[in-house]
Amino acid sequence: MDRSGRSSVAKGTALNADPASQGRLLDLQALDSALDRLAHRRRTLPELATIESLGARVREVADALVVAQTLESDLAREQSKAEADVDQVRTRAERDQQRLDAGSVSSPKELENLQSEIASLAKRRSDLEDVVLEVMERRELAQADVASLAGERDKISAELDAATARRDELFAEIDAEAAATSAARAAIAPDIPAELLALYEKIRASSGGVGAAALHRGRCEGCHLALNPGDLAHIHDAAPDAVLRCEECRRILVRTPESGL
Ligand SMILES: [Zn+2]
Repeated sequence: MDRSGRSSVAKGTALNADPASQGRLLDLQALDSALDRLAHRRRTLPELATIESLGARVREVADALVVAQTLESDLAREQSKAEADVDQVRTRAERDQQRLDAGSVSSPKELENLQSEIASLAKRRSDLEDVVLEVMERRELAQADVASLAGERDKISAELDAATARRDELFAEIDAEAAATSAARAAIAPDIPAELLALYEKIRASSGGVGAAALHRGRCEGCHLALNPGDLAHIHDAAPDAVLRCEECRRILVRTPESGL
Protein backbone atom coordinates (compact mmCIF):
# COMPACT_ATOMS: atom_id res chain seq x y z
CA MET A 1 0.00 0.00 0.00
CA ASP A 2 1.56 3.24 -1.11
CA ARG A 3 0.82 6.01 1.35
CA SER A 4 3.86 8.09 0.56
CA GLY A 5 3.47 10.27 -2.53
CA ARG A 6 -0.29 10.63 -2.31
CA SER A 7 -0.77 13.39 0.24
CA SER A 8 -2.35 15.51 -2.51
CA VAL A 9 -5.34 13.14 -2.39
CA ALA A 10 -6.59 14.68 0.83
CA LYS A 11 -7.34 17.80 -1.15
CA GLY A 12 -8.35 20.78 0.93
CA THR A 13 -7.56 19.23 4.29
CA ALA A 14 -4.43 18.02 5.99
CA LEU A 15 -6.59 16.52 8.70
CA ASN A 16 -6.18 12.96 9.85
CA ALA A 17 -8.67 10.91 11.81
CA ASP A 18 -8.84 7.18 12.28
CA PRO A 19 -11.36 5.40 10.04
CA ALA A 20 -13.58 4.53 13.01
CA SER A 21 -13.93 8.24 13.90
CA GLN A 22 -14.72 9.00 10.27
CA GLY A 23 -17.38 6.29 10.37
CA ARG A 24 -18.83 7.85 13.51
CA LEU A 25 -19.03 11.12 11.60
CA LEU A 26 -21.45 9.45 9.19
CA ASP A 27 -23.55 8.33 12.17
CA LEU A 28 -23.49 11.88 13.48
CA GLN A 29 -24.50 13.19 10.06
CA ALA A 30 -27.44 10.78 9.99
CA LEU A 31 -28.62 12.07 13.38
CA ASP A 32 -28.11 15.72 12.40
CA SER A 33 -30.09 15.13 9.22
CA ALA A 34 -32.83 13.49 11.28
CA LEU A 35 -32.87 16.52 13.60
CA ASP A 36 -33.06 18.84 10.59
CA ARG A 37 -35.97 16.85 9.19
CA LEU A 38 -37.76 17.02 12.54
CA ALA A 39 -37.21 20.79 12.78
CA HIS A 40 -38.44 21.20 9.21
CA ARG A 41 -41.51 19.09 9.94
CA ARG A 42 -42.20 21.15 13.07
CA ARG A 43 -42.06 24.37 11.06
CA THR A 44 -44.18 23.11 8.17
CA LEU A 45 -46.94 21.11 9.86
CA PRO A 46 -50.15 21.53 7.81
CA GLU A 47 -51.87 22.28 11.13
CA LEU A 48 -49.91 25.56 11.36
CA ALA A 49 -51.43 26.88 8.13
CA THR A 50 -54.85 25.61 9.23
CA ILE A 51 -54.52 27.38 12.59
CA GLU A 52 -53.48 30.59 10.88
CA SER A 53 -56.40 30.63 8.45
CA LEU A 54 -58.92 29.57 11.11
CA GLY A 55 -57.57 32.25 13.46
CA ALA A 56 -58.03 34.89 10.76
CA ARG A 57 -61.54 33.61 10.08
CA VAL A 58 -62.46 33.68 13.77
CA ARG A 59 -61.31 37.31 14.02
CA GLU A 60 -63.24 38.20 10.86
CA VAL A 61 -66.46 36.60 12.12
CA ALA A 62 -65.98 38.10 15.61
CA ASP A 63 -65.66 41.56 14.02
CA ALA A 64 -68.83 40.99 11.94
CA LEU A 65 -70.56 39.77 15.10
CA VAL A 66 -69.71 43.01 16.94
CA VAL A 67 -71.16 45.00 14.02
CA ALA A 68 -74.34 42.89 14.04
CA GLN A 69 -74.67 43.14 17.84
CA THR A 70 -74.24 46.92 17.69
CA LEU A 71 -76.94 47.17 15.01
CA GLU A 72 -79.24 44.93 17.04
CA SER A 73 -78.83 47.01 20.20
CA ASP A 74 -79.32 50.24 18.22
CA LEU A 75 -82.58 48.78 16.88
CA ALA A 76 -83.61 47.66 20.38
CA ARG A 77 -83.21 51.26 21.54
CA GLU A 78 -85.07 52.52 18.47
CA GLN A 79 -87.91 50.07 19.19
CA SER A 80 -88.17 51.17 22.85
CA LYS A 81 -88.29 54.78 21.78
CA ALA A 82 -90.97 54.08 19.14
CA GLU A 83 -92.99 52.08 21.72
CA ALA A 84 -92.69 54.96 24.21
CA ASP A 85 -93.95 57.32 21.51
CA VAL A 86 -96.95 55.02 20.95
CA ASP A 87 -97.61 54.92 24.73
CA GLN A 88 -97.46 58.67 25.00
CA VAL A 89 -99.94 59.16 22.13
CA ARG A 90 -102.24 56.43 23.50
CA THR A 91 -102.22 57.99 27.00
CA ARG A 92 -103.07 61.37 25.58
CA ALA A 93 -105.84 59.93 23.37
CA GLU A 94 -107.27 58.03 26.37
CA ARG A 95 -107.27 61.20 28.46
CA ASP A 96 -109.03 63.09 25.65
CA GLN A 97 -111.53 60.25 25.30
CA GLN A 98 -112.23 60.32 29.06
CA ARG A 99 -112.87 64.05 28.92
CA LEU A 100 -115.21 63.51 26.01
CA ASP A 101 -117.00 60.61 27.72
CA ALA A 102 -117.33 62.55 30.98
CA GLY A 103 -119.33 65.19 29.13
CA SER A 104 -117.34 67.92 30.84
CA VAL A 105 -116.66 69.72 27.59
CA SER A 106 -119.65 71.80 26.69
CA SER A 107 -118.35 74.41 24.30
CA PRO A 108 -118.99 73.20 20.72
CA LYS A 109 -115.75 74.75 19.62
CA GLU A 110 -113.80 72.98 22.36
CA LEU A 111 -115.68 69.74 21.61
CA GLU A 112 -114.78 69.97 17.99
CA ASN A 113 -111.12 70.58 18.86
CA LEU A 114 -111.13 67.60 21.19
CA GLN A 115 -112.67 65.29 18.59
CA SER A 116 -110.26 66.51 15.97
CA GLU A 117 -107.33 65.89 18.33
CA ILE A 118 -108.58 62.37 19.12
CA ALA A 119 -108.77 61.66 15.37
CA SER A 120 -105.32 63.03 14.69
CA LEU A 121 -103.90 61.15 17.70
CA ALA A 122 -105.42 57.93 16.31
CA LYS A 123 -103.74 58.61 12.97
CA ARG A 124 -100.46 59.45 14.74
CA ARG A 125 -100.71 56.30 16.85
CA SER A 126 -101.26 54.15 13.77
CA ASP A 127 -98.22 55.72 12.05
CA LEU A 128 -96.09 55.16 15.17
CA GLU A 129 -97.25 51.56 15.45
CA ASP A 130 -96.14 51.06 11.83
CA VAL A 131 -92.74 52.44 12.84
CA VAL A 132 -92.60 49.98 15.77
CA LEU A 133 -93.45 47.08 13.45
CA GLU A 134 -90.90 48.15 10.88
CA VAL A 135 -88.17 48.48 13.55
CA MET A 136 -89.15 45.10 15.04
CA GLU A 137 -88.79 43.46 11.63
CA ARG A 138 -85.34 44.98 11.14
CA ARG A 139 -84.41 43.94 14.67
CA GLU A 140 -85.49 40.36 14.04
CA LEU A 141 -83.23 40.24 10.99
CA ALA A 142 -80.39 41.67 13.08
CA GLN A 143 -81.02 39.10 15.81
CA ALA A 144 -80.92 36.33 13.20
CA ASP A 145 -77.59 37.72 11.95
CA VAL A 146 -76.23 37.81 15.51
CA ALA A 147 -77.32 34.21 16.13
CA SER A 148 -75.91 32.98 12.83
CA LEU A 149 -72.58 34.79 13.30
CA ALA A 150 -72.28 33.60 16.91
CA GLY A 151 -72.91 30.04 15.71
CA GLU A 152 -70.33 30.40 12.97
CA ARG A 153 -67.80 31.84 15.41
CA ASP A 154 -68.37 28.94 17.83
CA LYS A 155 -68.01 26.40 15.03
CA ILE A 156 -64.76 27.93 13.73
CA SER A 157 -63.45 28.34 17.30
CA ALA A 158 -64.05 24.64 17.90
CA GLU A 159 -62.20 23.79 14.67
CA LEU A 160 -59.37 26.09 15.76
CA ASP A 161 -59.21 24.42 19.18
CA ALA A 162 -59.09 20.99 17.54
CA ALA A 163 -56.32 22.05 15.14
CA THR A 164 -54.38 23.62 18.03
CA ALA A 165 -54.71 20.44 20.09
CA ARG A 166 -53.59 18.36 17.09
CA ARG A 167 -50.60 20.69 16.56
CA ASP A 168 -49.60 20.43 20.22
CA GLU A 169 -49.87 16.65 20.00
CA LEU A 170 -47.59 16.59 16.95
CA PHE A 171 -45.20 19.08 18.57
CA ALA A 172 -44.93 16.78 21.58
CA GLU A 173 -44.23 13.78 19.32
CA ILE A 174 -41.62 15.67 17.30
CA ASP A 175 -39.99 17.13 20.42
CA ALA A 176 -39.76 13.71 22.05
CA GLU A 177 -38.16 12.28 18.92
CA ALA A 178 -35.78 15.25 18.70
CA ALA A 179 -34.80 14.85 22.36
CA ALA A 180 -33.99 11.16 21.80
CA THR A 181 -32.04 11.99 18.63
CA SER A 182 -30.14 14.79 20.40
CA ALA A 183 -29.25 12.39 23.20
CA ALA A 184 -27.93 9.87 20.66
CA ARG A 185 -25.96 12.66 19.00
CA ALA A 186 -24.49 13.78 22.32
CA ALA A 187 -23.35 10.20 22.92
CA ILE A 188 -21.54 10.04 19.57
CA ALA A 189 -20.00 13.51 19.32
CA PRO A 190 -17.20 12.85 21.88
CA ASP A 191 -15.94 10.00 19.67
CA ILE A 192 -15.08 12.45 16.93
CA PRO A 193 -11.88 14.52 17.11
CA ALA A 194 -12.62 18.21 17.76
CA GLU A 195 -10.90 19.40 14.61
CA LEU A 196 -12.84 17.00 12.39
CA LEU A 197 -16.07 17.94 14.13
CA ALA A 198 -15.36 21.65 13.63
CA LEU A 199 -14.68 21.10 9.92
CA TYR A 200 -17.85 19.05 9.61
CA GLU A 201 -19.94 21.76 11.30
CA LYS A 202 -18.44 24.45 9.08
CA ILE A 203 -19.20 22.53 5.87
CA ARG A 204 -22.62 21.49 7.17
CA ALA A 205 -23.55 25.13 7.78
CA SER A 206 -22.74 26.11 4.20
CA SER A 207 -23.81 22.93 2.37
CA GLY A 208 -27.47 22.41 3.11
CA GLY A 209 -26.94 20.59 6.38
CA VAL A 210 -24.70 17.86 4.96
CA GLY A 211 -21.07 18.11 6.08
CA ALA A 212 -20.00 14.52 5.62
CA ALA A 213 -21.00 11.92 3.06
CA ALA A 214 -20.12 8.35 2.35
CA LEU A 215 -18.30 7.33 -0.78
CA HIS A 216 -20.67 4.66 -2.06
CA ARG A 217 -19.84 2.63 -5.17
CA GLY A 218 -17.68 5.38 -6.54
CA ARG A 219 -20.31 8.03 -5.94
CA CYS A 220 -20.32 10.86 -3.36
CA GLU A 221 -23.56 10.58 -1.40
CA GLY A 222 -23.39 14.31 -0.63
CA CYS A 223 -23.67 15.58 -4.20
CA HIS A 224 -24.57 12.21 -5.76
CA LEU A 225 -21.95 12.61 -8.45
CA ALA A 226 -19.75 9.75 -9.58
CA LEU A 227 -16.09 10.42 -8.96
CA ASN A 228 -13.81 10.22 -11.96
CA PRO A 229 -11.40 7.28 -12.15
CA GLY A 230 -8.43 9.53 -11.37
CA ASP A 231 -9.94 10.77 -8.10
CA LEU A 232 -11.00 7.22 -7.20
CA ALA A 233 -7.45 6.03 -7.78
CA HIS A 234 -6.12 8.80 -5.53
CA ILE A 235 -8.63 7.87 -2.84
CA HIS A 236 -7.76 4.22 -3.21
CA ASP A 237 -4.14 5.05 -2.49
CA ALA A 238 -4.80 7.53 0.30
CA ALA A 239 -3.85 6.68 3.88
CA PRO A 240 -6.86 5.19 5.75
CA ASP A 241 -6.75 8.00 8.32
CA ALA A 242 -6.55 10.81 5.76
CA VAL A 243 -9.65 12.97 5.86
CA LEU A 244 -10.80 13.32 2.26
CA ARG A 245 -13.10 15.77 0.60
CA CYS A 246 -15.28 15.47 -2.44
CA GLU A 247 -13.79 17.40 -5.36
CA GLU A 248 -17.28 18.43 -6.49
CA CYS A 249 -19.11 19.46 -3.33
CA ARG A 250 -16.16 19.78 -0.90
CA ARG A 251 -17.92 17.69 1.71
CA ILE A 252 -15.94 15.31 3.89
CA LEU A 253 -15.91 12.06 1.96
CA VAL A 254 -15.89 9.00 4.16
CA ARG A 255 -14.75 5.64 2.88
CA THR A 256 -16.81 2.59 3.75
CA PRO A 257 -16.60 -1.08 2.75
CA GLU A 258 -19.13 -0.25 0.01
CA SER A 259 -17.06 2.56 -1.46
CA GLY A 260 -16.17 0.52 -4.55
CA LEU A 261 -12.45 1.20 -4.29
ZN1 LIG B 1 -19.79 15.41 -3.35
